[in-house]
Amino acid sequence: MTVHVRFAPSPTGRLHVGNARAAVLNWLFARRHGGRFLFRLDDTDTERSTGEFAQAIAEDLRWLGLDWDGHFRQSDRLDVYHAAAERLKASGRLYPCYETPEELELRRKLQLARRLPPVYDRAALKLSDDDRAKLEAEGRKPHWRFKLDQTAVHWHDLIRGEVTVDAASLSDPVLLRADGRVLYTMSSVVDDGDTAITHVIRGEDHVTNTGVQIQLFQALGRPVPQFAHFSLFTDAAGAGLSKRLGALSLAEMRADGIEPMALNAFLARLGSADPIELCHSLAELVPGFDLGRFGKAPAHFDPAELEHLNARLVHHLRFDEVAGRLPDGADEAFWLAVRGNLAHVREAAEWWQVVAGPVAPLVDGEAEYLAAASAVLPPGPWDGETWKAWTEAVKAATGRKGKGLFLPLRRALTARDHGPEMKDLLPLIGESRARARLRGEKA
Ligand code: GLU
Repeated sequence: MTVHVRFAPSPTGRLHVGNARAAVLNWLFARRHGGRFLFRLDDTDTERSTGEFAQAIAEDLRWLGLDWDGHFRQSDRLDVYHAAAERLKASGRLYPCYETPEELELRRKLQLARRLPPVYDRAALKLSDDDRAKLEAEGRKPHWRFKLDQTAVHWHDLIRGEVTVDAASLSDPVLLRADGRVLYTMSSVVDDGDTAITHVIRGEDHVTNTGVQIQLFQALGRPVPQFAHFSLFTDAAGAGLSKRLGALSLAEMRADGIEPMALNAFLARLGSADPIELCHSLAELVPGFDLGRFGKAPAHFDPAELEHLNARLVHHLRFDEVAGRLPDGADEAFWLAVRGNLAHVREAAEWWQVVAGPVAPLVDGEAEYLAAASAVLPPGPWDGETWKAWTEAVKAATGRKGKGLFLPLRRALTARDHGPEMKDLLPLIGESRARARLRGEKA
């Protein structure tokens, strides 16, 4: 059996960490099992779905490095869903209802007041043909509900183990709106069936949907896929992440300088028993990926931890991984000199400025000392040993040592108190700029 999974976002917004996680986990599962990963746009909600969001989601997936083996959108398949709806109507599993939203709301309130569960009472099932004809003559158009089997639905969840959803405690879900719009439950099951999805991997917020959808697969005569529901992200305080979604969008993270592989490594393991490991490619995450290592406990998403992982990754990125994002002229020697000081690749530009100039040196009353130091600068060409040779000569010439020896040199040459190793920076700064800065000139 070939594994088929899908990532099925609704293009009603940008990707955030929550749905990016579904993408990463499904992709890894597909690659781990030599399967296919489909990218489906659940865009039957025509009011909220946009082409711009669809494109932005595709861009975000590409930024993560996820590729897909098939791509389609539900809005191209409406006739298929309607055909399936007709089959359900014919078998008596889809029935017309005429209540207005206000009527339903009133009933709900009455049920709650009587301490009854606010479940649809199936009043529409009791309508006679005459009743329906009368309602339609009044201009009412039906919406259509799926008649649930009022039994408990069980499945073996690949993450949560044995799960039961009691369909008897649920409202019959609406699958078709009065205006003909198809709802997610319907389109999702039809597509999962038509694309032979073998595993549905999604957040635990879909557990109840799964109970309903299993019945719908059966009603449509489709094999029921396996399910895995991962626990949702919470913040450090245990609250859901939804309120801060803006800050947790991939677009924002990208703008903040988060590396895609830092995020991938994070999303691939958070909520599992495996530690998060530094890696340079998605391929490295594939062999160790195991849904069975994920658990029911909520997964804490800590942006500070992601930042920390990101910095560690940046410290290890090779030149070829960042070359396109460095300032013109920045070479490998420069990258290797500065990467250990960066939390984000873009900060390399600040150090490029330090190296290539112009920089206004910090001289602060040390002009004489700096002139003495300049006088013993070794002749070029400079390399990684030059700084040591030079500072030893400065020490011998001036009698200074420790901070009093090194800091004024660093401040004059880089205009900063801290930074990458001076032995690496000095050859990059080069003799003419170094001499000028030691004279207190901007160079
Ligand atoms: N469009 C649905 C969502 O984004 C898909 C859920 C599913 O995986 O079935 O929540």
